[in-house]
Amino acid sequence: MIIVLKPEATAKEIKHIKAELKAKKLTPHDLPGMMRTVIAAVGDTAKIDEAWVMAFPGVEKVERIQKPYKLVARETTKEPTLIKVGKEVIGGDKICVMAGPCSVESVQSLLDVAKEIKKTGAKFLRGGAYKPRTSPYAFQGHGEEGLKFLDEVRSATGMPIVTELMDPRDTEVVERYADVIQIGTRNMQNFSLLKEVGKTRKPVLLKRGLAATIKEFLMSAEYIMSEGNHQVIFCERGIRTFETYTRNTLDLSAVPILKKESHLPVIIDPSHAVGRRDLVAPMAMAAVAAGADGLMIEVHMDPEKAWSDGEQTLNPAAFAELMKALKPIAKAVGRTI
Ligand code: PEP
Ligand code: MN
Repeated sequence: MIIVLKPEATAKEIKHIKAELKAKKLTPHDLPGMMRTVIAAVGDTAKIDEAWVMAFPGVEKVERIQKPYKLVARETTKEPTLIKVGKEVIGGDKICVMAGPCSVESVQSLLDVAKEIKKTGAKFLRGGAYKPRTSPYAFQGHGEEGLKFLDEVRSATGMPIVTELMDPRDTEVVERYADVIQIGTRNMQNFSLLKEVGKTRKPVLLKRGLAATIKEFLMSAEYIMSEGNHQVIFCERGIRTFETYTRNTLDLSAVPILKKESHLPVIIDPSHAVGRRDLVAPMAMAAVAAGADGLMIEVHMDPEKAWSDGEQTLNPAAFAELMKALKPIAKAVGRTI
């Protein structure tokens, strides 16, 4: 339920309304409003009568949100959400590119690739310190040490970092180092993990589950927002289908659907979607044409020697070429990159 307050509503009136909502076991969330205060009352609103809310001094309008995702819904927040990280903005006119290796390997390899991709337009450095691997015998990531490597490279390059959190027990340490916390595909419906990141104050990059519907994806974002963290970025990274030529099937229709259904930014990870280096560029270009707010691309100095996902990883030269190719596409859809 959305409660729009009158421009002249006093702080005392707003406090009173919130207290009354809480007494009915609803959680009030402040929503960004240009001119006036808007509150989303979330919880079991079925038994709440609109007239009861309208009777409070200061209330101008009450609207019900029909969708099961409330805070995520476009109806709740009409303006697109902009996520600000340092001087970077995700969701604005400028397409935001996140790039870097699949796994954090060493400070030197991370620094080398970060310098290269920064030169050609990447704004965020990605890299996993906690790696979700299919085999328990494969490299699992350096853990906290890897986060320290990322921190060192952030200091050297000024690039904010995106890194994955896999286990709720690591939330505190990952929150301390990350600029954006990534929730990987395998954890999209790990509800306790979603609640944990919902309590942090760092933006969350939520990857679509391997076999999740768009509705389930939207509901997972709702889990994060319902805990008070409204800085969520959707990341489509391909879904499982019967197709075997690609690692997954990139569902590009998710971009316009998510942008229609929600006010949150949407980015595309073509690397994990296709699993093949030769298809990363065409899918990245298609993503920008489809209206994505950003891209996440795996880049390594020497993809053949990457500790994970080398076959889908670009080298800096291929990344530079792609960045160049993206410029006219971004321009054609009224964006910059
Ligand atoms: C990753 O981005 O490092 C990753 C493991 O991706 P996904 O969760 O999409 O497989
Ligand atoms: Mn990877």
